[in-house]
Amino acid sequence: MNQSTSEQVAMPVGRIAPAPTGAQHVGNARTYLLAWLSVRSREGRLILRIEDLDSPRLKSWAVDQALEDVAWLGLDWTEGPDIGGPHAPYIQSQRRALYDDALRQLKQAERVYPCTCTRRDVAAAASAPHAEHEGPNYPGTCAGRSVADAARLGEQPFVWRFRASNVERAWHDRVIGTKAANVARELGDFIIARGDGAPAYQLAVVVDDHVMGVSEVLRGDDLVPSTWRQLDLYDFFGWQPPEFAHVPLVVGPDGRRLAKRHGDTRLAQLREAGKSPERLIGLLAWSAGLIDEPRPCQPADLLDNFDLAQLPRTPWVLTADLWQSLLT
Ligand code: GLU
Ligand code: ZN
Repeated sequence: MNQSTSEQVAMPVGRIAPAPTGAQHVGNARTYLLAWLSVRSREGRLILRIEDLDSPRLKSWAVDQALEDVAWLGLDWTEGPDIGGPHAPYIQSQRRALYDDALRQLKQAERVYPCTCTRRDVAAAASAPHAEHEGPNYPGTCAGRSVADAARLGEQPFVWRFRASNVERAWHDRVIGTKAANVARELGDFIIARGDGAPAYQLAVVVDDHVMGVSEVLRGDDLVPSTWRQLDLYDFFGWQPPEFAHVPLVVGPDGRRLAKRHGDTRLAQLREAGKSPERLIGLLAWSAGLIDEPRPCQPADLLDNFDLAQLPRTPWVLTADLWQSLLT
């Protein structure tokens, strides 16, 4: 689906894309709230898409729980796995035909080559590479191969790796401003699919955001390196990229991305403890500079004058005290 620029300005389409590899926590909630506010404050629409390609790490309960968590926050969506919509299905594992077609185009253009380097990278590629998963740049070991060489590898497992462009790219991010980089030089060739065609995150997310008409991708700023790769893919397919908005992460007192090591900050814990979401929304709104003090409120209360450009540019530290304040 090709949307004209004027349409995008008139009616932004955003998305929230939970990965059901575990429970949704405060960090996810903050990003989802901001994604919702950004499009809703401009009369836009929000798509809910489940990113469940990382099959070894999937939890069967996590899809339903993610939907419940997002709804509990008071965020609504106009298309999603529970309500359907014009771009159904909204679960990536059910969208394989689209990714297969994209991979076929990449092979036809010799833009991918079979890479036999590491098994670990292959396993990781199905998930979004959050900061701690960005490995060293690929040194180009297998770049001399052509697509046809895949047939000569026998039983050897391989992945399809994308030849990154050796050009300077720039984009204007709605939060962090103008960014520029050379994908080939600074990041290197990246994984697009497994040898059997199972898509990696980078391919699936670009195909879906394009096909679903997403005009704004708001996500954590640890995915900035992925944005470069994705821009390279948009360029290959000749698709207009969405606007990007990368928001600082929620971190623990140690400065690292909020995770299990920081204790239990699952939304389900608040829900099960019978807490209302208003206090959490208030805390998150305060963390984002939308209100002066953490007082209970609802997402819709924050729509007036919402401005992404005003967001703090630094990570927000969730202390144990702040978390406890939600539970008491
Ligand atoms: N499903 C991804 C995650 O959980 C989101 C990636 C994105 O927003 O592009 O991190
Ligand atoms: Zn290789």
